[in-house]
Amino acid sequence: MKILVINCGSSSLKYQLLDMKDESVLCKGSIERIGLKINGGEENVIVKVGDDKFTYDKELKDHVAAFNEVKYILSEGEHKVIDSFSEIDAIGHRIVQGGDRYTKSVLVTEKVVKDVEELAPLAPLHNPAHLMGYRACLEVVGPDVPQVFVFDTSFHSTMPPKAYMYAVPYEYYEKYAVRRYGFHGTSHKFVSHRVAEKMGKNIKDLKIITCHLGNGSSVAAVDHGKVVDTSMGFTPLDGFMMGTRSGGVDPSVVTFIMKKLNLTPDEMDNILNKQSGVNAISGISSDDRDICAAQNAGNERAILAHEMQAYEIAKYIGSYIAAMNGVDAIVFTAGIGENAIPVREKVVSYLGYLGVTLDKDANGHRGEEIVISTPDSKVKVAVIPTNEELAICRETVALV
Ligand code: ADP
Repeated sequence: MKILVINCGSSSLKYQLLDMKDESVLCKGSIERIGLKINGGEENVIVKVGDDKFTYDKELKDHVAAFNEVKYILSEGEHKVIDSFSEIDAIGHRIVQGGDRYTKSVLVTEKVVKDVEELAPLAPLHNPAHLMGYRACLEVVGPDVPQVFVFDTSFHSTMPPKAYMYAVPYEYYEKYAVRRYGFHGTSHKFVSHRVAEKMGKNIKDLKIITCHLGNGSSVAAVDHGKVVDTSMGFTPLDGFMMGTRSGGVDPSVVTFIMKKLNLTPDEMDNILNKQSGVNAISGISSDDRDICAAQNAGNERAILAHEMQAYEIAKYIGSYIAAMNGVDAIVFTAGIGENAIPVREKVVSYLGYLGVTLDKDANGHRGEEIVISTPDSKVKVAVIPTNEELAICRETVALV
């Protein structure tokens, strides 16, 4: 079975074609600047086949044009990996917001499309873009190829009300669906199941804390296979500091600064989402590689950014140990979780009281699946590279 995974943004489209016979990646890549002018030299199309990477620029007026380009890349162009697009058995889409309506992945029907459209106010930057991707696929491949939506929020739908409610007027929940949803669910699910497998245990017998640390970051408490709490909230802004996002702050800071600087809600939203976090504290970059380099050079604000980040992550871990009344395994994943050795070391340094001991040699590895706690550590700490595309493929196969 060949499954195509699509992750569509408002001007971008990421694609990955997998052969589910052996879960191998046949081709993956991305198209940026959809609907925008290309002035040459921008190389907005990326194609990766095995270890080879090809890039070129091409103006693509809309998502249909972009999806036709994907069709060309996969089945017609010089780097094609299949003889015909009809070899694709199904398409799986990443959808950010499924609200409280979608606790599982679904085969797309008109009703599903309508629901995702209706949920757009909860994810205005994402859901409409995902639907553009879906409709482009539908136009190009027709209705006979099944399409599946896999929601970032689904895995978190098991949270109890005490974890997802906010103590604001109750009618905001009833009228506007204001509550914690959580995001990165596909990743938290993938790595929590994988660590259970690695430990040779059933996930239903384990208490696991998963730390997805990338440009956007979140921590989740997975109690006997079910999420009971997670750090992202109504939107992916909540939690702890990220590349450019503030994470949780005293809400009064928001109203105070809005009044002080006479800012509109959109301007404040932009500041909290795009001009805060590690970028703001370090004054250097939102990219953790730059922060690691600056920290090594003794830059005080880079050191502070890392200290704040690790401290906040450790506090979340502590609170989720309380939420689950224990923990058996802690997992690090995503760009920073898989690669940033000093961040992992710093976070684990807060967990001595748990009887967690770090295997420094193992922690020296990057980007690979590895246990980084010592054999006598009371809690297993592991790095598990996430693979959201594979997870989406598996969900798609299960449904079709
Ligand atoms: P996204 O949320 O966009 O999917 P990723 O999971 O790709 O993000 O993570 C991106 C983050 O991972 C960036 O901050 C990047 O600097 C960091 N990262 C990637 N490789 C390394 C590395 N070798 N060392 C430290 N940080 C890294």
